[in-house]
Amino acid sequence: MQRADICIVGAAGGATAALHLAKKGIRSVLVDKASFPRDKICGDALSGKVVGELKRIAPELPRQLEAKQSVLPSWGIRFVAPNGRNLRIPFRPDYKVATDPAPGIRSAPKAGF
Ligand SMILES: Cc1cc2nc3c(=O)[nH]c(=O)nc-3n(C[C@H](O)[C@H](O)[C@H](O)COP(=O)(O)OP(=O)(O)OC[C@H]3O[C@@H](n4cnc5c(N)ncnc54)[C@H](O)[C@@H]3O)c2cc1C
Repeated sequence: MQRADICIVGAAGGATAALHLAKKGIRSVLVDKASFPRDKICGDALSGKVVGELKRIAPELPRQLEAKQSVLPSWGIRFVAPNGRNLRIPFRPDYKVATDPAPGIRSAPKAGF
């Protein structure tokens, strides 16, 4: 049996907390009522803040993700209402899409989507 200093309840955010604790040498156990892997409703995008968080976990992670063919650069999010009205939220308001590197990344659309 292994010992842990901290018990984290709930994955997603909890997994990030566990990784940061491990980097500090603090043992944790992560429990979740769901079985993994599981599907979840998601836009499949990582904002600039999330990419920054990945860098804090392991500096090479964003570059490794960007190198995959299944991801595309992303500059922001667009929410579309059923009536077609939409709201654009850039990850960084000062970014120019044409010239600046993307602060975020997202999944490439699957064939036929
Ligand atoms: C429609 C939608 C689209 C999204 N798209 C994106 C996106 O594209 N990119 C992005 O970065 N974020 C996206 N998000 C946000 C992202 O999903 C959340 O920020 C993230 O899931 C929050 O993580 P969390 O761990 O706080 O909560 P959750 O993901 O809700 O995880 C909570 C966990 O706790 C577990 N749990 C609950 N109660 C118990 C219990 N009593 N005992 C044990 N386990 C328990 C649950 O099973 C669950 O796994 C989206 C959210 C929504 C709703």
